[in-house]
Amino acid sequence: MNRRHFLRGTAVGVAGAAAASTFPAPALAQGRRELKMVTTWPKNFPGLGTGAERLARRITEMTDGALTVKVFAAGELVPPFESFDAVSSGTADLYHGAEYYWQGKSKAFNFFAAVPFGLTATEMNAWIHHGGGQALWDELSAGFNLKPFMAGNTGVQMGGWFNKEINSLEDYKGLKIRMPGLGGEVLRRIGAAAVALPGGEIFPALQSGAIDATEWVGPWNDLAFGFYKVTKYYYFPGFHEPGTTLGSGVNLKVWEELSASHKAAIDVAMAAENSMSLAEFNARNNDALDTLRTKHGVQLRQFSDDVLNAIGEASGQVVAEAAAGDAMTRKVYDSFLAFRKKAIAWSRLSDQAYWNARLLPFKYG
Ligand code: CA
Repeated sequence: MNRRHFLRGTAVGVAGAAAASTFPAPALAQGRRELKMVTTWPKNFPGLGTGAERLARRITEMTDGALTVKVFAAGELVPPFESFDAVSSGTADLYHGAEYYWQGKSKAFNFFAAVPFGLTATEMNAWIHHGGGQALWDELSAGFNLKPFMAGNTGVQMGGWFNKEINSLEDYKGLKIRMPGLGGEVLRRIGAAAVALPGGEIFPALQSGAIDATEWVGPWNDLAFGFYKVTKYYYFPGFHEPGTTLGSGVNLKVWEELSASHKAAIDVAMAAENSMSLAEFNARNNDALDTLRTKHGVQLRQFSDDVLNAIGEASGQVVAEAAAGDAMTRKVYDSFLAFRKKAIAWSRLSDQAYWNARLLPFKYG
């Protein structure tokens, strides 16, 4: 018997049926609050839209519905790139997106999603949770009336879909390519015409020839959009997004009004989604890559070291210039760069050394 039935039963038993009709509604129902979550993703889009839905469901369940999170896909309440303003102003209560979409507000937001040649997923988690990143992110977001969380990660992304081979920097000249964030700025620096389109607008633009090339995420998400139907060459690695953190911002006033237990529920649900999302991307990418290769005949190509070296040089300049724009971005950049340096020293001996060792031609299994 739940509390509601128990109370009703007691009321009826003690004071009779007439009293039951005027018995106050249970405290839980009175305290129930609906939180509007806006997202930058098409409805139920694999991993992104479904991740936002899973996050919303978990918050709702962990609070027994006291916080009931209702998800609005891109365009349902506001256009995708207006999600930030909607939550900042209080039109919505929280968003799920990627922080580099807000670089027009401050370049510092890029560092909390992905920057070219930046940190991997595990390194992002390390920097934000244990390297000073969260405090900087809180400070940045508080200026926009937001409390930010990591709420997903795509892992290393792919370099993108092209209708011609990219053999040198010359091949980027004049190329109309979809790439958001600082990655787009890097490509503009080497002569490409980079644009930032929301996910749902990419396929039609590619199909009509409005753009020649695009990056999106990786095999799982790219298969879902069907880019293989229009372009032939699928490049790697995604130097521009080495472990993109998906971000969720809660309206700061809403956040501050929450009880300690509701704050903890949101905090834990965000951390769970951050972990679950990366696991899901890694598992689904394995299968989707196989499908793209064997069923759709996609041609995989690796960027040459010469191309990557030149793009890396431009990336270093673009990221440093972004940091020079204002004091907050500079502070974030300094922290990020110091962490990156230490992370490279460790990863050479750990992940990188192990991955190389695993590719040696010994027989296994
Ligand atoms: Ca991307």
